[in-house]
Amino acid sequence: MNTIYNFSAGPAVLPKEVLQQAASEMLDWHGSGMSVMEMSHRGPEFMSILAQAQADLRELLNVPANYKILFLQGGGLGENAIVPMNLVGRKAQPATVDFIHTGSWSGKSIKEAKKYANVNIAASSENAGFNGVPDPSSWNLTKDAAYVHLCTNETIDGVEYHFVPDVAQQTNGAPLVADMSSHILSRVIDVSKYGVIFGGAQKNIGPAGLTLVIVREDLLGSALPICPSAFDWKIVADNDSMYNTPPTYSIYIAGLVFQWLKRQGGVAVMEQKNIAKANLLYDYLDSTDFYVTRVDKEFRSRMNVPFYLKDESLNAAFLAAAKERGLLQLKGHKSVGGMRASIYNAMPIEGVQALVEFMRDFAGANT
Ligand code: PMP
Repeated sequence: MNTIYNFSAGPAVLPKEVLQQAASEMLDWHGSGMSVMEMSHRGPEFMSILAQAQADLRELLNVPANYKILFLQGGGLGENAIVPMNLVGRKAQPATVDFIHTGSWSGKSIKEAKKYANVNIAASSENAGFNGVPDPSSWNLTKDAAYVHLCTNETIDGVEYHFVPDVAQQTNGAPLVADMSSHILSRVIDVSKYGVIFGGAQKNIGPAGLTLVIVREDLLGSALPICPSAFDWKIVADNDSMYNTPPTYSIYIAGLVFQWLKRQGGVAVMEQKNIAKANLLYDYLDSTDFYVTRVDKEFRSRMNVPFYLKDESLNAAFLAAAKERGLLQLKGHKSVGGMRASIYNAMPIEGVQALVEFMRDFAGANT
């Protein structure tokens, strides 16, 4: 039987080692006689799991001391409301927030933010078919924006920022808010360049249910009165992510993934591996006209690689043949069609090699 490689965009592949460890600890965590799922979140066992996960994440991303790490629920889409509810109160109402529209997920963020603020779309690549990030020199930013929102990796469109824009001068120091759901921990980042980083866990971190927020301390404490207490970052921070019951099992698995990442050598080592994996796939895509890509080279995502068969009538046959080879979940998002290979941290290079080999064979057999 073929080795199975899972290219799902999320929930997505997790390191086998982590799943094996979780399986071995499922019924009895460290001699406690309980599964992690059955423990009180306020007991010493789970408290130690949470503290370790936070400390490991802080170390992996080099999170400065003046930033809080929050473990929340609600997902990326939840944050689309939670972010404005926490940040627009720092400005006179109605506040304006700036958005850079680079694909489906920043689009959804824009739609949601309109419920809480004036939204200024400072730049958009929509007319260009979301093929990249508009040049920052063309961004029409607001002088006193409450914040500037970016989606630094557009999971559906396959567009990634390979730079951090500097918006401070044009906005009177508005913080950058980055939706990093689909590339957090895949590359080295300078957290100090952002006011807020958020992401759902279910791609590069762990199971669905956990949402990560990294927020600079001075941005806490201005939540709008309508903000639910459980989503008021100040309340959550003051209670060390224990204001209400956190998603305990997801945090536990995320913690195992953090330890796995440390064993791999940390984020800088993962980044090199991710570059090698992405190059392998893009180099093949560039070498053939059987498949087509639509994103400008300088903005190609290392995590999510959308591609199209030139002859789209072969789509179903491609997916069926891929499945036969053990290459799963390659179908593109329904809004854009085509194919998408998500190659997160837990995807080994052998998986990408197997994919390229299959794509070459399929192209050969169908031309
Ligand atoms: N932002 C990005 C970049 C995403 O990829 C996703 C999910 N695919 C979301 C937001 C939405 O996340 P959730 O489904 O956790 O609400």
